[in-house]
Amino acid sequence: MSRVYNFSAGPSCLPESVLKEAAAEMLDYHGTGQSVMEMSHRSKAYEPIIAETEALVRSLLNVPDNYKVLFLQGGASTQFAMIPMNLKKIGKAAYVDTGIWADKAIKEAKKFIDVDVIASSKDKGYSYIPKVGKIEGEYDYAYITLNNTIVGTKWAALPETGARADGTQIPLVADASSCILSEPMDISRFGIFYAGAQKNLAPAGVTLVIIRDDLITDSPVPGTPTMLTYKTHADNGSMYNTPPCYTIYIMGKVLAWIKDNGGAEGMKKRNQEKADLFYKYLDNSSFYRSPVEKDSRSLMNIPFVTGETDPDKAAALNKKFVAEAAAAGLVNLAGHRLVGGMRASLYNAMPLDGVKALIAFMDKFAAENK
Ligand SMILES: *Cc1c(COP(=O)(O)O)cnc(C)c1O
Repeated sequence: MSRVYNFSAGPSCLPESVLKEAAAEMLDYHGTGQSVMEMSHRSKAYEPIIAETEALVRSLLNVPDNYKVLFLQGGASTQFAMIPMNLKKIGKAAYVDTGIWADKAIKEAKKFIDVDVIASSKDKGYSYIPKVGKIEGEYDYAYITLNNTIVGTKWAALPETGARADGTQIPLVADASSCILSEPMDISRFGIFYAGAQKNLAPAGVTLVIIRDDLITDSPVPGTPTMLTYKTHADNGSMYNTPPCYTIYIMGKVLAWIKDNGGAEGMKKRNQEKADLFYKYLDNSSFYRSPVEKDSRSLMNIPFVTGETDPDKAAALNKKFVAEAAAAGLVNLAGHRLVGGMRASLYNAMPLDGVKALIAFMDKFAAENK
């Protein structure tokens, strides 16, 4: 059996040691004679699994005591609706449009709340993070996408938010789907910090939501379904209904792997080394380049293009690149269907050797296709 280097943007590669452990426990988890897939979520065997996963989230992210950690379903995309449905009071929210996921969040929010798009980088194909000063106004919340998976940008510094007329601060809400635990992050800066798990934390199926207690309301917008109300899940320890048990179990193993590898600081070091190597290669190349402005570059998702300017020839060259890379054991390098080009996602689990193998392949491909 040979494993490939998987550069997928999500679902994405998981640490090999985690997959091996899960395989070893598949038929008989800790002497229970069952797989974690098969057991009741209310059983003695399962209770510690979800409790330990939550404890690891809290310790690795330094989650303050006045925040709840929720394991929800419906993906990050369901949060696009849950956030306005649960946070709407004044009736208006501020959004920053930094890419396709931010745009989807804006479109969904508009169904429930007035949206002010206070800044956008759409004018240059989302290739940078717009400058945002202190966010002021009568807003229920301000919303950003911390790392833009498709276009490969990230917020280098968080925007400040001001106080509303009643003296309370505008809560900052962040989609951290593609950067959670890639480097240290200060949860106390956010009202809600959430991430679909399938990029950096687990297989698909669970969304991690970290929410400050005062934002958990019993009066979301009228008609909000029980399952889309944060309070339902907060009051029931994410066990109002059957949680995605197996995914939570794998998340626990991934978090333990992160802890063993130096926690968020260790991940930052590991990820910085990989990204620095790859950006340096792109910046020194006469064949490839990064379309993203230097001060906005993502640590996790790195799009790149060739110098070919004819659109048809460029598309054919990209296709050849992706196919030959896959044949060499470097898979899922096509850019997102909406932006084209190529993209290498270097999530926590991608080893440095994978990046080195990619660069060696790119060198060979450039020499053969000049
Ligand atoms: C992948 C992704 C999403 C969508 O996640 P789903 O779980 O598929 O709904 C949203 N935001 C960002 C930043 C993403 O990377």
